[in-house]
Amino acid sequence: MLEVLKSLEELLDARATCDTDDGLALYKIALVPTMGALHDGHISLIKRAKELGQVCFVSIFVNPLQFGPNEDFNNYPKSLEEDIAKCKELGVDYVFVPKESDIYPAGRENTKIVKGDDDLSHRLCGRSRVDHFDGVCTVVKRLFELVRPHIGVFGEKDYQQLLIIKAMVKEYDMDIEIVNCPTIREASGLAMSSRNKYLSESERELASNIYKELKIIRVEIKNASDLEARKNYLGFAKHQLESLGIQIEYLEEFKSRIFVAAKIGKARLIDNIAL
Ligand code: AMP
Repeated sequence: MLEVLKSLEELLDARATCDTDDGLALYKIALVPTMGALHDGHISLIKRAKELGQVCFVSIFVNPLQFGPNEDFNNYPKSLEEDIAKCKELGVDYVFVPKESDIYPAGRENTKIVKGDDDLSHRLCGRSRVDHFDGVCTVVKRLFELVRPHIGVFGEKDYQQLLIIKAMVKEYDMDIEIVNCPTIREASGLAMSSRNKYLSESERELASNIYKELKIIRVEIKNASDLEARKNYLGFAKHQLESLGIQIEYLEEFKSRIFVAAKIGKARLIDNIAL
C-alpha cells in the first residue's frame, strides 16, 4: 500500500519501520529522487528501483536551490495527484513530498554544499548554470541522509548530474550504490523531460532533430581521422542544428560521450549519447 509522506516526521517514522529496533536493516531500500511531473523516464527508474530494492521510496521536490534566478522554478510543471497515482500503480511503497523547511531547516543558503572549482561541476551545464550542481548535490545529500537508501537510481538523460552524484557519494563516503538507467525517448527520439511540456507541437518536432543529429555525430566521430576532424565535425553539426532554428548552448565531446544543451522556445533541453 502506497503511503504519501508529507513531512519530515512522517518520513522518519516510515523509515524507522524498515529497520529493527536496534537499527539493523530489515529491507534493501531504493530511492528515486525526482522533481515530479512524472513521465516514462521517471517510471523506468521506479521500475528499476523496484527490481533492485525491497522497499521503494520516490521523492518529489522541486528544488529551488538548483534553479538560477532567471530560470523556470516558479513555472516548473506540477502534477502531484497524477504522480501519486502513477506511483501507486507501480507499487511504490512511499512517496516523500517534503516541504522546503524539511529539506532546508536552516534555510537554503546555510545548507548549501559548495562544490568549489571541481572539474565536473563547472563544465557543460555548469558553465551557464553556475550554482546548479551545488543545488543538486545539496538536495540529493539531504535526501540520502533522511531516507538512508542502499540504492539511489538516476537517469542517464542527466549524465553530468549522474557523474557528479557518483563523485559526491565517493567524496562523502556514503554507502549507497548509484544505479543508472538509460534515457527514455519519445517515438521521435526526443528525450523525455518534464520541460517538454513547454514545447508547442511544432517545437516538439523541431526538438526531435537533436537526437537525430547526435546519432549522425556518433557515426561521423567514429570515422573521423583525428581530434581536429572530430572538433570540426562538431562545429558543423552545431551549425546544422542552428540553421534549423535550434539555439545551441554547447555541443561537446566529454568522457566518450557527446553532450548537448539547446534552447527551443521557452524550453532548455539537454541530451547526450555514448560514442
Ligand atoms: P527530474 O525530475 O527531471 O529531476 O529527474 C529525476 C530523475 O529522472 C533523474 O535521475 C533524471 O536523470 C531522470 N530522468 C529524467 N528524464 C529521463 C529520461 N528521459 N530517461 C531516463 N531518466 C530520466
